[in-house]
Amino acid sequence: MARGGDVTVTAFREAVLGHPKVRVVGSGSRLAWCSPWDGPTVSTFGLAGIEELSVPDRLVTVLAGTQVEDLLEELKTHGLGLPLAQGDPVVTQRYGTIGGLFMGGLPAWGGETRDWVLGMQVLRGDGSLAKVGAKVAKSVAGYDGQRFFVGSRGGLVACLSVTLRLWPLALVDSLRAPAFEDVRAVWFDGQVRWGASVPTGADWWIGQGGARSPSSVPDLERRAKSILDPSGRFAEGWL
Ligand SMILES: Cc1cc2nc3c(=O)[nH]c(=O)nc-3n(C[C@H](O)[C@H](O)[C@H](O)COP(=O)(O)OP(=O)(O)OC[C@H]3O[C@@H](n4cnc5c(N)ncnc54)[C@H](O)[C@@H]3O)c2cc1C
Repeated sequence: MARGGDVTVTAFREAVLGHPKVRVVGSGSRLAWCSPWDGPTVSTFGLAGIEELSVPDRLVTVLAGTQVEDLLEELKTHGLGLPLAQGDPVVTQRYGTIGGLFMGGLPAWGGETRDWVLGMQVLRGDGSLAKVGAKVAKSVAGYDGQRFFVGSRGGLVACLSVTLRLWPLALVDSLRAPAFEDVRAVWFDGQVRWGASVPTGADWWIGQGGARSPSSVPDLERRAKSILDPSGRFAEGWL
């Protein structure tokens, strides 16, 4: 299904470990929303394909460099999908990978993308591979670490693959798009809104340039970084 698919986890890992500090990217379509970085980058491009698909359980495990469109196309043939934007040129026109979609952490109109991620395989800055979450819909094993990594914009770990809960296509098709005035996504009052202007007193927001309002989030990010990537291998995508 997926274009590419000729890069192994081993080769990707070596490429990352070849740099003391590196930005991991997918196709680079959303980097304008991240903090600037002029050092080396390693792309997941080619680390692509479906590892496992269970239609009855509505679960898929997919490599991070898989193009979103390719995955959706394949899922469609099984009557499954994800509640992402449909047909809106602002959102869908440009290439984007699964890794970029979940690590970028932008909202989709069917809710929060972190709610669809059941498990994740990641590469840590020390070169170790780790699995968080599970490959089943209901699991009580361990912490839902994958929820923490969603939206970390490459600053904590490199995402290698994700296991996703899928939606019936009929349900996805029944969702209606909001009006997109621009590509700004805002979180405030406990809700995600697209195309809204930033209200005074917002907890935090993501916009062009990746800017944020001051809050406790940067402090939390710094603490998470010191625990999860103490050697500072991964360039911070947040500001
Ligand atoms: C049909 C369709 C519907 C879509 N709907 C939505 C939608 O509802 N919401 C939405 O936000 N987008 C949507 N998109 C857009 C798009 O899928 C994502 O924004 C996109 O996947 C970004 O991927 P990228 O590879 O270009 O990310 P990049 O610009 O390369 O990276 C974005 C961020 O993620 C980090 N990153 C990327 N890959 C990894 C990795 N493997 N490990 C660690 N960090 C990583 C980067 O460092 C950076 O901080 C849609 C696209 C299509 C085709």
